[in-house]
Amino acid sequence: MEWGIITKKNFKDKTTYDIPIKRWDPLSTVKIKSKDFGLGKKRERYYGHYSYLSPIRGKRPKAYDTVEKKSELEHCPKKIFARVKDVFMAVTEGKPIFDDWGYQLGDGFTIIINQDEKKLDNPFSDIPHQIERLPESCKAVTLINRYPSMARIIDPEIEDYIVEKLPPHLKLARGINLITISRKFYPSLCFNLIPEDIIAGIFLSMKAAILYCVQEAIERDYYDIPISPFFNIGMKVGGSQPRIHSQVYIDLSGDGHGSRLEGYLRAFKEMGDNCHLCETTHGNTDRIILNTEFWTFYTTGSPVRNYHIRFHPNEHLRRFSQLKINQLNDLAKSIRIIFQALDDIEIDKNRNLLFNCCPFGYDDDFHLFGDIIPHEVIGGAEMADDMRVARKLPHIAAAEIRESLVKYLN
Ligand SMILES: [Zn+2]
Repeated sequence: MEWGIITKKNFKDKTTYDIPIKRWDPLSTVKIKSKDFGLGKKRERYYGHYSYLSPIRGKRPKAYDTVEKKSELEHCPKKIFARVKDVFMAVTEGKPIFDDWGYQLGDGFTIIINQDEKKLDNPFSDIPHQIERLPESCKAVTLINRYPSMARIIDPEIEDYIVEKLPPHLKLARGINLITISRKFYPSLCFNLIPEDIIAGIFLSMKAAILYCVQEAIERDYYDIPISPFFNIGMKVGGSQPRIHSQVYIDLSGDGHGSRLEGYLRAFKEMGDNCHLCETTHGNTDRIILNTEFWTFYTTGSPVRNYHIRFHPNEHLRRFSQLKINQLNDLAKSIRIIFQALDDIEIDKNRNLLFNCCPFGYDDDFHLFGDIIPHEVIGGAEMADDMRVARKLPHIAAAEIRESLVKYLN
């Protein structure tokens, strides 16, 4: 079921669970009754906690697998984590790529939605293919994730069969999982490790691909579409490849959204015309890290980890895909120096970068915002509730980051 394609060929009738499942937790899932959020034309919709259960996710290649295998073969006393070529190189070079020991890392087959901003394959294409070597001038490409959490294309007969067989609390997870990679190899978003225009290129390709996918999805009668753009940077926070890459989850199940997004939607609804992000001074500015023409970065007063940074465009926009080129260029510039400033004061290099957006089809007020969350080991009580314990006072964290950032400001 690679690339989220379920056909008569690859679907084995033996176990219906061997498909991507979206499972709503019955202990925290509530039916959406009002017309508040989303249009809810046909199906039942929920908010609450859900999990994607996707067997294919476990099959995705990890950057250091082959090295571990090799060291086992040679009874090597220590595991040596040498740098290996990344699987994405097979895509950018348009041919199979092997590591130094002859293991094939990637076959070069792909479905490319956007090369930079240019549309290539249709988001609902079912034909993975090899491409020509990408031109040097290309900055970033957006691909269909080969190991997705959701099914993108399903043979209608099989879909009927699956839907009939599944117990009512399980749903077939439908959607598009995108990956955006830089054309050349860069490991991080830090000032010292990647040029600014490459980060901007990644953002622009993500935006173009989101718009293309949503347009094609709407034509296929999907609606109420939650979209989550994010970066997992580092093995400890879910990054399985060393090359910098972002992902976008486009959920086409049309059955609602998670409880955290419900909280955001309700909070913005309650604010009405007095949007908190448009009006706040973030604790009288002592938590602000960086304020540019287009963006505000600050340490949030309710951190989920120490040094949790939140940021938002100064313009009241609802979605990542509404950001204009000036805003995306400035975001690239700002993220790059903030990541370096965090590196310089030895904050964990494993970080998540997340964008919180209003779903497509929801006619609700919302102010797009992002989170930069450095990795940290957290405790049990924190897994149970939507609560965190942080040691670092946010205004002190902000002062440290500001001081570290100073040398990168012109
Ligand atoms: Zn606002």
